[in-house]
Amino acid sequence: METGVAVVGGGPAGLAVAARLRGVDAVVLEASPRLGWPPHCTGIVSPRVAEGLTGLGLRDLESEDVLEAVYREAVFLGPGAGEACRLQGRPLAVKLARPGLEDLLASMAEAQGHRVATRAVVEAVRTQSGRVVVQARGVGVVEAGYAVLAQGRQRLAPRLPLPRGPCTTVPGVEERVTLSKRLPGDAFYTLHASRIAPGFFAWLAPVGDGREAVVGLATRAPGLAARLEAFKRLLERRGVTSFSRVLSRRGGLVLRGPAAPAAARERLAWIGDTLCASKPYTGGGLYAVSVLAPVLAEALERGALGPYEAAWRRLRLELLAQRAAADTAHAMGTLFLRLLAKACAAAEKGRCRIDYDRHTSLARCLAAGP
Ligand SMILES: Cc1cc2nc3c(=O)[nH]c(=O)nc-3n(C[C@H](O)[C@H](O)[C@H](O)COP(=O)(O)OP(=O)(O)OC[C@H]3O[C@@H](n4cnc5c(N)ncnc54)[C@H](O)[C@@H]3O)c2cc1C
Repeated sequence: METGVAVVGGGPAGLAVAARLRGVDAVVLEASPRLGWPPHCTGIVSPRVAEGLTGLGLRDLESEDVLEAVYREAVFLGPGAGEACRLQGRPLAVKLARPGLEDLLASMAEAQGHRVATRAVVEAVRTQSGRVVVQARGVGVVEAGYAVLAQGRQRLAPRLPLPRGPCTTVPGVEERVTLSKRLPGDAFYTLHASRIAPGFFAWLAPVGDGREAVVGLATRAPGLAARLEAFKRLLERRGVTSFSRVLSRRGGLVLRGPAAPAAARERLAWIGDTLCASKPYTGGGLYAVSVLAPVLAEALERGALGPYEAAWRRLRLELLAQRAAADTAHAMGTLFLRLLAKACAAAEKGRCRIDYDRHTSLARCLAAGP
């Protein structure tokens, strides 16, 4: 098979590029029989990221059934689940359905005339005489002008090229649950500096009318399931909510950086988790995809990856700064929560703005004073 662009991996990164690509034909090769399956992601992003990923506004995302929740507040809890700070926005964040996001992006890619093939396990990618040759089980050989490597870091085929450099990961687990005590549907909670999720954090996010929620945590410490139970019991003891039934479980690797040194080589471009491009404090990877996918699509249309590499260099610097800030915050433990409370107070008084995606904006709020 011959194509303009071969996209390896039908996750949000690969599909967001294909959905934007016009005037060049593309084939998305996805190993799983069902897009986005098995799911591993909570899908909480800023409204700006939701719109950047899809090119659609929140109203359209709602009518496409991709918007599971809209949050006006993030509540930061300290080790004993006491409230440290509330961050507000209008809205502050939304929860995208995963894998509903993948289904939407795939239909947008198909509407551009691209092919999305499932059960297509890419086993090798190589460049040869100015072309890219992709070997995919279930499809055969695909020859392309460019390959977009968006296979993520969850189930990695060992022979697929990755950018140089390390990428640290933290295992995460999440349950979708029904609640016997309804949560207000417009706030989500995160637990920090706690022995329950050392080195990272735990989260609780209501879905819909607050009778269901996702509850999860990530940490390198052993015993994820027992830790998740401990988190649920802590929330119950503190009267935040009470849990009734577990509807489903998911898990995966949360990335903590550092962002890869380069995003392209010859006719190969990486995007998404292959770039280790997460916001290191939360592990949110969709922010970087929303920034990079439109730039990569345009670069592929023009047949020159230079502008994409330039966009990556800018974003990478920001993600590296976020990583340094995240490492400092984790090392500070509860002292960080006290600083966070000060930053939140400054933001509440309108002295500064905390950007949900640029965690280094906290420093501006600290400088703004209480
Ligand atoms: C528990 C958890 C919670 C998270 N919560 C959030 C959140 O709230 N907000 C946020 O922004 N981010 C979150 N993330 C991170 C987010 O899930 C990732 O950053 C995002 O999914 C990256 O998208 P991707 O397309 O690069 O990779 P993936 O989503 O991993 O997609 C890669 C795709 O490639 C396919 N693939 C792999 N190998 C091959 C192969 N050889 N051939 C063909 N196909 C292949 C896979 O099957 C998969 O479909 C979370 C992650 C975890 C683990």
